[in-house]
Amino acid sequence: MDANTIAAAPALETSAEPVFSPAAELAAKWQRYLEGRVSIHPWTTTRISGIGDACERRIYYRRTEGNREKPYDAGLQAIFDLGKHLEVYAVRKLEAMGFDVVQRGKDWHDLDLDVTGHVDLMLTREGWPLDVVTEVKGLNEFTAGTIETIDDIRHNPSPWVRKYFSQLQGYLYTEKKPLGLFALLGKSSGDFTFVDCPRDDAFIDEHIVKKALRIRDAVRAREPLARTLVTDECVRCGFKHICCPDITYGDAPIVLESPPKDLLDALKTREELEQSKKLYERADKLVKSMLPDAPRVLVGDFEVDGKKQERGAYTVKAASFWVKKIHRIGHGGTH
Ligand code: SF4
Repeated sequence: MDANTIAAAPALETSAEPVFSPAAELAAKWQRYLEGRVSIHPWTTTRISGIGDACERRIYYRRTEGNREKPYDAGLQAIFDLGKHLEVYAVRKLEAMGFDVVQRGKDWHDLDLDVTGHVDLMLTREGWPLDVVTEVKGLNEFTAGTIETIDDIRHNPSPWVRKYFSQLQGYLYTEKKPLGLFALLGKSSGDFTFVDCPRDDAFIDEHIVKKALRIRDAVRAREPLARTLVTDECVRCGFKHICCPDITYGDAPIVLESPPKDLLDALKTREELEQSKKLYERADKLVKSMLPDAPRVLVGDFEVDGKKQERGAYTVKAASFWVKKIHRIGHGGTH
């Protein structure tokens, strides 16, 4: 071997043992860790953080059948865990800006309404006429980008964002304050959006007080409230096996009433690119059928690297999965 020749790397020993992959090990461990953290907490009172649920019957079940709720998936647990750390981070930044956190993590219980809550923090600074009930929320960038005003929260397409409005109105009610504040932290930008939340007495009366009383009385009487049967809520509801075992959605379509904008955008993009994909695949197939089998081919302005691959016989493990064919409503074709 002359001085300019690079020695080949020693060949890896072939073995029946699986190849060492720290990444695969960590991924599996992370999944198991998250699954181990998923936990269901039956409600002994109505929680203000959930009173904005569009289905009162689900709140009833959380209080009376909470330990029979079907567990949520591990991906959601990761989001919950991260959210808890964001509050600590947000408080540090607010204090660094010169604001005073005069109260943190205050638990309260309204015995009459049978409602409990946990006020994140009360914020003030010199010159402010009042301490402001502040709710910190971490948001994905898409959702954060849709929010500028309090109406964007109150009427947000995402039901979980709409619940934030009820939650903060509940705190304004119990803390007897005229004004609250949302401190919304973008989880990947690290950027804050601040939104004033004035107290809305008509909303509090209708959607906090009267609703809480209906739920309280239903729980005391052990009488479930009426079913809402809003399809996209029910199909992912952890209580549907108790609430509506008599209803099977069968082949009836599930109507997503408030689909996220990124889903709609992705559907349109997918449709726009579909023709290009077909043209690409046709050209790719033609090119590959016309090229000679060789490690290196030069053709016009292009260079082609070839590598011979062996395909062994293998057995595919049995599994079940959904094949999703998408087409525009009113158009017959499926893809
Ligand atoms: S299945 Fe539907 S109606 Fe029943 S509790 Fe859940 S969301 Fe409400």
